[in-house]
Amino acid sequence: MATNNHIPLVDLQVQYDGMRAEIDNAIQRVIDNSSFIMGPEVQDFEAAFARYLGVSEAIGVASGSAALQLALLACGIGPGDEVITTPHTFFATAEAISQVGATPVFADIQADTYNLDPELVENAITPHTRAIIPVHLYGQPADMLEIMAVARRHGLKVIEDAAQAHGATHYGRRAGGIGDLACFSFFPSKNLGCYGDGGMVTTDDPDLAARLRRLRDHGRTGKYEHAEVGWGARLDALQAAILSAKLRHLDEWNDGRRAAAARYNALLAGCDVVTPAERSYNCHVYYCYVIRTPKRDGLFEELAARGIGAGIHYPIPLHLQPAYKPLGLLPGAFPVSEAAADSVLSLPMYPEITPEQQSIVAAAIKAFVG
Ligand SMILES: *Cc1c(COP(=O)(O)O)cnc(C)c1O
Repeated sequence: MATNNHIPLVDLQVQYDGMRAEIDNAIQRVIDNSSFIMGPEVQDFEAAFARYLGVSEAIGVASGSAALQLALLACGIGPGDEVITTPHTFFATAEAISQVGATPVFADIQADTYNLDPELVENAITPHTRAIIPVHLYGQPADMLEIMAVARRHGLKVIEDAAQAHGATHYGRRAGGIGDLACFSFFPSKNLGCYGDGGMVTTDDPDLAARLRRLRDHGRTGKYEHAEVGWGARLDALQAAILSAKLRHLDEWNDGRRAAAARYNALLAGCDVVTPAERSYNCHVYYCYVIRTPKRDGLFEELAARGIGAGIHYPIPLHLQPAYKPLGLLPGAFPVSEAAADSVLSLPMYPEITPEQQSIVAAAIKAFVG
């Protein structure tokens, strides 16, 4: 039961309260213009997001999952092809690979950042490998320069899953502007989230961009002319208008998340939990603030009993998901991912979380873990 000191995992209401007029005006503008599908709101947001990332092309789509599927299709990936990714991610990353008819091949992660290990990626390459999907998990970029080098040596495409990393940087470059393509989700809880489903594919390649613009809209080349079989997977104008308003606040929100992460680090120093590792060349945007402890399950229950919303991202590695039983992978195949799945815990994290709320969370952790 929620108590009066209830601290949620994510608080979207407090963000809306801080920008109610901007959001309401954006929604009203779309309704007044009766321009709900494609049109200027979508174009304006695509242009603003591309500018923000420093890429030339941004293609709005229906969700982060649609972004991943369309990016793979745009690269011509399908049956018989293999795509390497991490087992420690949200299911949609590998699901997209399966949906285009290709086979996900997993490589294990680094124990401290939870991101793909570039050396293990290289070991997983076969003659069927076509692409790599690194995930910038929890808001910290994967080791992209090394992954790009591996990809270039073997002639592979790199599709960034940047669904958790809006605004993060790697050697000063924005996540989502480093690979051949990148996929974003605007699911409400993401660092940049809309009020429903939304997504984006970004690239510097005009040919891939043109293909993606067709694929998201029924393969259309004219109102009733279809060059190929595509999808109904457009970003809707209401979400684009909301996202344009929110994008102006993204850096300030990410600064809030980073300040909150620094406070948790200080509060939890000396406590018997592992706090997040941030590489010196990365700017981590803390979609999730994730600690590790062997007492994870008990701690999760204890926090819940105190009205504190923790999360587990993610409890079952993808190679051990029932849906991937046909891949024939057994426990022990990816030990670093399996250990992470058993011990990670996400603490309440949003830009507006207060030092007082964080002190309550840290005190509860210390009382349980020691
Ligand atoms: C959220 C998320 C997705 C899926 O995005 P949707 O917009 O929910 O379809 C894909 N990959 C990762 C890593 C995510 O966090």
